[in-house]
Amino acid sequence: MSTATPQKFEFQAEIKQLLDIVIHSLYTEKEIFVRELVSNAADALEKLRHTQLTEKEIFDDKLELEINVTTDDKAKTITIQDFGLGMTRAELVENLGTIAHSGSKAFLKALGEGAQKNASLIGQFGVGFYSAFMVAKSVKVYSHSWRAAEPGHVWTSDGAGSYEIEESEGQRRGSKIVVELKDDCAEFASDWKIKEILERYSAFVSFPINLNGKRVNTVQALWLRSKNEIKEEEYTEFYKFQSHAHEEPRLRLHFSADAPLAINALLFVPKENTEKLGFARTEASVALYCRKVLIDAKPKNLLPEWLRFLKGVVDSEDLPLNISRETMQDKALVEKLNKVITKKFLRFLEDEAKNHAEAYAACYAEFGLFLKEGAAMDFTHKDQLVKLLRFESSLTEKGKTTSLADYVSRVTSDQKEIYYLVGPNRAAIESGPYLEAFKARNLEVLFCYEAVDEYVMNNVREFDSKKLTAADHAEVKLSELPKPEGALSEADTKKLTTWLKATLGERVAEVKASERLVDSPALALNADKFMSPHMRRMMKAMSKDKDGPDAPLRVNLEINPRSAVMKRLFETHTASPEKAKLVAEQILDNALISAGLLDDATPMVARLYKLLESV
Ligand code: ADP
Ligand code: MG
Repeated sequence: MSTATPQKFEFQAEIKQLLDIVIHSLYTEKEIFVRELVSNAADALEKLRHTQLTEKEIFDDKLELEINVTTDDKAKTITIQDFGLGMTRAELVENLGTIAHSGSKAFLKALGEGAQKNASLIGQFGVGFYSAFMVAKSVKVYSHSWRAAEPGHVWTSDGAGSYEIEESEGQRRGSKIVVELKDDCAEFASDWKIKEILERYSAFVSFPINLNGKRVNTVQALWLRSKNEIKEEEYTEFYKFQSHAHEEPRLRLHFSADAPLAINALLFVPKENTEKLGFARTEASVALYCRKVLIDAKPKNLLPEWLRFLKGVVDSEDLPLNISRETMQDKALVEKLNKVITKKFLRFLEDEAKNHAEAYAACYAEFGLFLKEGAAMDFTHKDQLVKLLRFESSLTEKGKTTSLADYVSRVTSDQKEIYYLVGPNRAAIESGPYLEAFKARNLEVLFCYEAVDEYVMNNVREFDSKKLTAADHAEVKLSELPKPEGALSEADTKKLTTWLKATLGERVAEVKASERLVDSPALALNADKFMSPHMRRMMKAMSKDKDGPDAPLRVNLEINPRSAVMKRLFETHTASPEKAKLVAEQILDNALISAGLLDDATPMVARLYKLLESV
């Protein structure tokens, strides 16, 4: 048969089936046809480059290796031209008319197993060449193979079951795909729309992409280059471009792995934590690429929730065969990626903490909340995350922090607890009555300033077999200290505590002499084991009914028989009981203030005036 006249072909049955699915099930993701055609163009250029290495005789050998996209909004067409290796007549039939590669077969199989009902999933498929028919009335593929002896051809189809191939004079090397758009898809003939799509999906394709004569992709896929060739400025420029950031990144991790998956990743910790600034919850935004082509800009499960502050790119060559084709496997694959990357990033943070302690501390100050979230909620990574936590403590200077490991390295072997105190800031904790007992016994106490700390400590529970214990917990038992001179006798103390309980009535559950207090006259311990002062405050803050009745509060009051105040109170409580009662109530209020438990200070003001009258 002469090849000069148009020849009509039926699509292979499987292609018909595929076309039907592509055209009717993919409407939500129409724009990906641009990504697919551009990716095919880039593949063709890449193949030509390899061919050039071995073949001397290449048709049209002076052509640049580039991709030209042109739009015509009058004719409602978009044209994607590459100077790649092109296709012969036989190749046009084989590649565009039959399913020659197993990938597409697997794709079909996967679709058959129910994936077509899930449009968002399908959006991640590389549906390849046929995706053009989502938007096309007709598609023409002009192609000239790199083999000089072969003539050029044009392949034409409306995607309805058949296609035609005809010889075509005057073709340049490579392929030119002209998509005549359906009327309701005319937007794809507009320059700005295609620019946006190219920038989103194809920004890192290695060959120049020109849209209507203007270069679109100027930033390199830095993550695929070798680390020691990349300058600091290049990283910064890339980060700003890819993450839409204005500042330099804070930390950077660039790595590649071959097993169990081929991964190239370039991850950044930004300067600022926008969640901390009060903006909305950060969206996961490490983008997933396959060989420089975007698969998903915001993949949900690529990283654990608590790593949502990371920016950057993960590229895996293993994706096309899986994610983009065999939908049934993609969940497991993303899980695998997640595991490898998270492990790597945690090790990176560990190294940072060890080798660049100051930079790590600054990073922690900004992003520590995320690590705490992980330590409390991500059981898989808890152990590693707990090691990364940092706290000020009674032994650090203000602003300096310690790790739990360092804390443990300082304790004596018989100490079975790691103590912590939660408070709004260092000054508040240091001036409160809880710390002194620990100071007197040379016990280090971690200082926790954030609302979530208590929750984190409760969830983490222990570190290095030492139990994390709130220092203001009523059940903490401390060793006895030598009794200083001049304390109230045991008998007198007993009298005083009995009187105090009688006087303070329902406001206290119990009054007893304290083992903890060194200087302060008294302290309040929450009698409710299950609700700490801080939790109570949080519950109150969250409660809608701010003025409503509070949960009844009953505390244990511990007094210090060595303090001058108590000695004086002991004398007064018999000599002038009226005044002693005022003093007792004031002492309780003071203790409640220190514990963060005083809800209403108004009665206290009146009482204080009364007390002052009697001075
Ligand atoms: P895939 O790219 O995954 O192989 P496609 O459906 O996108 O699947 O393309 C099918 C085949 O058609 C490609 O494998 C390639 O051989 C051929 N092809 C598509 N576009 C071009 C092009 N621009 N130049 C040369 N060959 C192409
Ligand atoms: Mg393709």
